Amino acid sequence: MIIDFHTHIFPPDVRDKREEYAERDPTFAEMYADPNAKIATAEELLASMDYAGVNVSVALGFAWREHELCVRHNDYILEAAAKSNGRIVGFCTVNLAADEAAGEIVRCASAGAKGVGELRPESQHWNVNGESGARLAGLAREHGLLLLFHVTDVGGHEYAGKEGLQLGAFYRFAMEHTDIPIVGAHLAGGLPFAMPDVPQVSLTAIADTAARRFLYPESAYMDFIDRWGARRLLLGSDYPLVTQATQIEDVRTNLRRVAERDLVLGGNAARLLRLSKRA
Ligand SMILES: [Zn+2]
Repeated sequence: MIIDFHTHIFPPDVRDKREEYAERDPTFAEMYADPNAKIATAEELLASMDYAGVNVSVALGFAWREHELCVRHNDYILEAAAKSNGRIVGFCTVNLAADEAAGEIVRCASAGAKGVGELRPESQHWNVNGESGARLAGLAREHGLLLLFHVTDVGGHEYAGKEGLQLGAFYRFAMEHTDIPIVGAHLAGGLPFAMPDVPQVSLTAIADTAARRFLYPESAYMDFIDRWGARRLLLGSDYPLVTQATQIEDVRTNLRRVAERDLVLGGNAARLLRLSKRA
């Protein structure tokens, strides 16, 4: 079973009117104002999954600043997931700085969302290590939701949409909440390599491989597994930025031990999402 834990879909009108949305949201503008930046719909994701042999994809929301835009995007993802026969798993996104955020998380959880993400506390101006983060962790615990954060390395190279959550803040959050499933996107911002001296033994966070080719050398896969183990890495493409076929090939090429490769390509995700083998 192949599960892509990190894909992005948008309602078609966001792509059709990208200039309008770019004016409303600076993070969206940074990543998608360029007409060449790919924006995919649910139908395109399903076609990509057929082509690449992906059984299940996690469709993530976008960290809009405005609550109303988060809600509309959540509706689209929840509907796509509901219609997909289990092929799309929906994650919702909220801005924790909004008063209505907690209610929206509860609404999405009861409509079938399995997690919250891709979260970008810094772009949305709320503190993951403060009261907002504690509230989020409490909701995740209460409703059995996973949390997925965009995590960035400190230093490293610049890219559109880099801001999100710096790894020091991610580390503190993950250390405080080892009882809930927390995913650090993009190899957790390189946390296992960047902070080798801080205690990571009690850390239970997991990571995905999203956009590996733009961020780390190929050797990062085995370095990661040496430090955190193969049970803590999830296939994630960052589709449509990277095609699913390309990302799967990247994992297959770099993970030579079959048991580890199977865990990363789908075993770990199936366990986390509590999916049966049949999907
Ligand atoms: Zn990201």
